[in-house]
Amino acid sequence: MNTTSVKAFGTEAKDKDLQLMQIERREVTPTDIEIDILYCGVCHSDLHTARNDWGGTKYPSVPGHEIIGRITKVGSAVTKFKVGDLAGVGCLVDSCRECESCKQNLEQYCLNGSTGTYNGKDPFLGGHTFGGYSEKVVVDEAFGLHIPENLDLKAVAPLLCAGITTWSPLKHWDVKEGSKVAVVGLGGLGHMAIKLAKGLGANVTLFSRSPDKIQDALDLGADAVVISTYENEMNAVKGKFDLIIDTVPYDHDINPYISTLTINGTLVLVGYIGKMEEALFTPPMILGRRSVAGSVIGGIKETQEMLDFCGEKNILPEIEMINMQNINEAYERMLKSDVRYRFVIDMQSLKNGIILKNSW
Ligand code: NAP
Ligand code: ZN
Ligand code: ZN
Repeated sequence: MNTTSVKAFGTEAKDKDLQLMQIERREVTPTDIEIDILYCGVCHSDLHTARNDWGGTKYPSVPGHEIIGRITKVGSAVTKFKVGDLAGVGCLVDSCRECESCKQNLEQYCLNGSTGTYNGKDPFLGGHTFGGYSEKVVVDEAFGLHIPENLDLKAVAPLLCAGITTWSPLKHWDVKEGSKVAVVGLGGLGHMAIKLAKGLGANVTLFSRSPDKIQDALDLGADAVVISTYENEMNAVKGKFDLIIDTVPYDHDINPYISTLTINGTLVLVGYIGKMEEALFTPPMILGRRSVAGSVIGGIKETQEMLDFCGEKNILPEIEMINMQNINEAYERMLKSDVRYRFVIDMQSLKNGIILKNSW
């Protein structure tokens, strides 16, 4: 299969910085689109993968699954897109399309294993897939997304992961006008959860460890902020929330949040993947029919619905634009919870090879 060599930023090992490298992109197949990447969001999962936090990272690793760009080529059988269109790619580039999950537009739960935009198995070139920290990406049109024209393009990218990951549980648990929703952690996912839940008409509370984020949360639309380390504030919201979306990336005790759920309420984990050190205390679950659940990104149809909803309501993330060359510093800031509230890479910096030190 013919390939083109493109510039990318990735890492060769878990303890190495990301750096400039060349990767291969396949020539478009009949159903493929080729996208010239304009912007790529920076998700905490990029960092987890680059540093092998979850195990299983294949190197070299080129992260990035919040991709926005313009189509430069289409295959002969492509019907959804044409050259010059804007297009987005999120966390998935393929799935089996035949299993029960795929048939229900739940490609993220493909029973035969969906293909991640990075670190997935590449059926075309062998080896593994490379993400959006690169000049171009080639993807089957079935996994491309249409971008509402009215949205500010610079800020759209984070909707492709942070947006859909919080939208999917909001929809699944039927959040609507008057629902009481809480969000744990004000980072990329957390701030989108607030905006989307507000967009659906919910009353929204933020749980945060960071008192310096209170005003930001209120400005983002939250109705209240609870500092999770203040016991009196936690006690004051017992039994209150229909749904809690927990975006914390690392192990933490979820028991204090469970008692803030209403009867039948659900706490959905979308952040931490792994074993929890603190055992679950079951009485609040048994005595209140409360649930603890998990959720991963969303299907392609649902992602398009979320993008269209954001287009209608003009909902966009708060972003800080960075150069590709600043990605390593950006990861360090992410580890300090110092992201307000999503980094987006201006891919022009990779294409031009501009290195603007300390320019954020
Ligand atoms: P992020 O921007 O770094 O935000 C995480 C927030 O969690 C921080 O801003 C902080 O908020 C809080 N936090 C961080 N460390 C904490 C700790 N040790 N204890 C308690 N709170 C802590 O990350 P993100 O991009 O939103 O991603 C969040 C997590 O979701 C990551 O693990 C990522 O891999 C995962 N993720 C999952 C999916 C999925 O499909 N399920 C999709 C995308 C990402 P405060 O300062 O307000 O406390
Ligand atoms: Zn992500
Ligand atoms: Zn499938």
